[in-house]
Amino acid sequence: MIKQSDFITSNKSNWCPGCSNFSIRAALIKAFSELNLDPHNIAMVFDIGCAGNACNLYNTYGFHGLHGRTVPLAVGAKLANNKLVVIGLAGDGGAYGEGLNHFIEAARSDFDITLIVSNNKLYSLTTGQASPTSEKGIKTKSTPDGVKKTGLNPLLMALSAGAGFVSRGYANEIDHLSEIFKKAISHKGFSLVDVLQPCITLDKINTREWYKERIYQLDNKWNNKDRNKAIIKVQEWGDKIPIGIFFKGK
Ligand code: SF4
Repeated sequence: MIKQSDFITSNKSNWCPGCSNFSIRAALIKAFSELNLDPHNIAMVFDIGCAGNACNLYNTYGFHGLHGRTVPLAVGAKLANNKLVVIGLAGDGGAYGEGLNHFIEAARSDFDITLIVSNNKLYSLTTGQASPTSEKGIKTKSTPDGVKKTGLNPLLMALSAGAGFVSRGYANEIDHLSEIFKKAISHKGFSLVDVLQPCITLDKINTREWYKERIYQLDNKWNNKDRNKAIIKVQEWGDKIPIGIFFKGK
């Protein structure tokens, strides 16, 4: 088996100390290793943002593209060489804001890529503006009177667009997240892993403690073959927040 350390470069990260993007990387290289993938058979695509700054931290093929363009670049890589395992790793701003139409089209078209979204509900690299997933009423630098719109639910959108694999993980539950990654990568078709990733520097509301009180894992009684039930389940948000694979179509 290829060791986890084989997937990491010696480059230094510019993430804040303790950033949960480190946990996402730990979960992903664990998945790569346990799937026994070769680094040269993996292409990873990133865009601009804190999540995108992981580009030189993985010892795989990597492409650091324009903001919001993770999905089309990932689709292009897959079309050019369908033997590659292609992973797009974006933030919530790039994936669900600037790249929203790409996201919907990839889900509809069922391109065989895995989209991982490091979702901290903020534009963090630019120091904390509201993103599409920011919740209504939240005050940020760009919304001093509070966000006026309802936060976008990306899982609901993916299910509505026909995506065949829809899941949510939590950055600080590494083993659970890694298991989701393994199943998403093994899925033939478009797979979404939305990862709740508290920004420890800028977010004083959706903190680790906040999530810790609310997160729970879907148990093995959950039937992930029922899209309509998944559509209801992904809307559970508040005192309890489910994580796991909500829908896997084939
Ligand atoms: Fe991580 Fe937030 Fe720092 Fe960005 S600003 S590196 S998301 S802790």
